Amino acid sequence: MELKQLYREIVNEHNMHPVHKGKMESADLVLRGVNPSCGDDITLQLKIDGDVITDAMYEGSGCAISQASVDMMADQIIGKKKDEAIKLAGTFMGMIKGEITDEESIEALDEAAALQDVAHMPARVKCAVLGWHTMQEMLEHPEKANE
Ligand code: ZN
Repeated sequence: MELKQLYREIVNEHNMHPVHKGKMESADLVLRGVNPSCGDDITLQLKIDGDVITDAMYEGSGCAISQASVDMMADQIIGKKKDEAIKLAGTFMGMIKGEITDEESIEALDEAAALQDVAHMPARVKCAVLGWHTMQEMLEHPEKANE
């Protein structure tokens, strides 16, 4: 399958059938992330057990790229240690900015690697990184993310 088509299908699939969208009961960390240039507005909710992210959900609205990206991110970080998730966020943001291009690093992102083409769409970069940036922020500064 052509990469562009794959990318479109993955984005569509996550918008039509989001897996992690909704309100989480008794989340440990909650943080809102906004991208005013597009109107993307998400509230990310994480459950944490020790060092491990045991669940991730989000609420909100926005363009197809922002919503697909945060849904894929939730998939990726559940079951990961906090420092692994922060590292993945760095890889994802590096990929979207076109700074990380080696296949081995990008493969670690699994399905989220499909968004690599956003690197060629500067106006959509903030949409794609919104969820990841919010997640990194709440793990590094949990004092901002307590309910
Ligand atoms: Zn957007």
